[in-house]
Amino acid sequence: MSLANDYAGLSEDARSALDRRYELFIGGEWRAPAASGYHAVFDPSHGGAIASVATADETDVDAAVAAARLAFDEGPWPRMRPHEREALILRLADLIGAQGEALSQIETVNSGKLLPNTRAIDVGFSITTLRYMAGWSTKIAGKTLDLSVPYAPGMAFTGFTRLRPVGVVAGITPWNVPLCEAVFKLAPVLATGCTVVIKPAEQTPLTTLALARLCQEAGVPPGVVNVITGGREVGAALVAHPDVDKINFTGSTAAGRQIAAVAAPQMKKYNLELGGKSPVVIAADADLDLAIPGAAWAILGNHGQNCCAGSRLYVHASLFDRVIEGVAEIARAVRIGPGLDPASQMGPMVNHAHRDRVLAFVEEGRRAGASLVYGGESVADPGAYLNPALLVGLPHENRLVQEEIFGPVLVAERFEEMDAVMARVNGTSYGLGASIWSRDFETINRFFDRVEAGIVWINNHNTLDPAVPFGGWKESGVGMELGEEGLMSHLRVKAGVVCRA
Ligand code: NAD
Repeated sequence: MSLANDYAGLSEDARSALDRRYELFIGGEWRAPAASGYHAVFDPSHGGAIASVATADETDVDAAVAAARLAFDEGPWPRMRPHEREALILRLADLIGAQGEALSQIETVNSGKLLPNTRAIDVGFSITTLRYMAGWSTKIAGKTLDLSVPYAPGMAFTGFTRLRPVGVVAGITPWNVPLCEAVFKLAPVLATGCTVVIKPAEQTPLTTLALARLCQEAGVPPGVVNVITGGREVGAALVAHPDVDKINFTGSTAAGRQIAAVAAPQMKKYNLELGGKSPVVIAADADLDLAIPGAAWAILGNHGQNCCAGSRLYVHASLFDRVIEGVAEIARAVRIGPGLDPASQMGPMVNHAHRDRVLAFVEEGRRAGASLVYGGESVADPGAYLNPALLVGLPHENRLVQEEIFGPVLVAERFEEMDAVMARVNGTSYGLGASIWSRDFETINRFFDRVEAGIVWINNHNTLDPAVPFGGWKESGVGMELGEEGLMSHLRVKAGVVCRA
């Protein structure tokens, strides 16, 4: 393979991560795949191949799960003390920091995301998440309980609970925030003493493979972290594997549904972090200096490829024209170009197929009679670029209002009355995020109470922190990631009863 670009500005470490072949990380070793061979991964800014990655099959899935099982049941891992796990996680965070620039460059080349984004989110947020979860390692605590046991008079009992790691976790991740999602799966595993097999998205596996190498360097015992690569069949084999105790999945609602159907009959634990169609609501009293750029970047951020992208905009009628004009002005001025170019404000979609799918949605909206305020066409370039789009005038039932597009496509609607618009704000099958832009406490409070979403942003959109639990309502998911809730989902309760007399 020879690289289509010479990537002259890349660091030495980032360059050495490209134009090479990757094996599977199983039981602390790099292993060739059992049978299926290798597949290419691409740079969407020109469409050329940049590396070749192992395609795992069921034999490899078996080997990875067996390594994770062994490490959980018998390795040094179950005997490691909480403060040792904490120190190890902090060491890993430091190693990610030391490799930060190379990791963000690799992520940008593989995903098309902007360098400032991969620096701040994929690298920066990963480090913060690891440090946050490291702190929990030494604070996992059960309870003691004074018991009544009314049918045993004259005897005294004390109850207690211990929180035990859930076991072998399958961590399956999407392509839109690759390193960060892998760390979301890894950090609570390490904090609680579980083990994990991570299966990154087929489009963007490179930084997760780099993470495996850094785990090795940090001294994570063999088998505690395993990384296998390949497509949805690999994920499906992992989900179905009888020795996997818990599935932590982030991806589409369609895949989440398939996973739940396989996991539920086996009584496996699962967390599903799924798609969204998040509303942005601008009330009559909103501060437009905040709300207009807020609404624009809610959909333009990460090229609309965010699960919480603010893809439906509801604006009070008195402000509608000003907001639409303001958002359009920002979107039209966006400089589109490669993620590595510091002048770019929007990079390519993750690949050409996805770019075409997003464009087809815009075309469908036009055919349905919507007026296209701006954009919606591809860019004359070999890269997977498109211009962001804004459509007005679609009925609430239209697919563009109801379905996740996962690109920079916004649909907007005016409303007269906040209470009346809530039916439409809540009127999709999703319930991931939502934002309200207002200066009035009552308006904000009523919105917060009534909106069906796992996270509500007030005068901001899509702000995440490892301390804040994150998870979707309705068809946006099951369970929560991050925060204490994300940690707790990797633990199970074992209760004890002591007879004292
Ligand atoms: P996807 O569902 O196609 O794939 C996600 C991952 O699951 C990939 O690794 C894929 O190989 C694997 N997979 C697919 N089908 C599977 C199956 N049946 N069994 C096991 N594994 C399977 O999603 P994608 O296109 O990679 O990512 C985009 C989606 O992810 C969007 O819907 C987005 O909203 C969602 N997402 C959600 C969150 C969140 O936290 N809620 C965050 C990021 C992305």
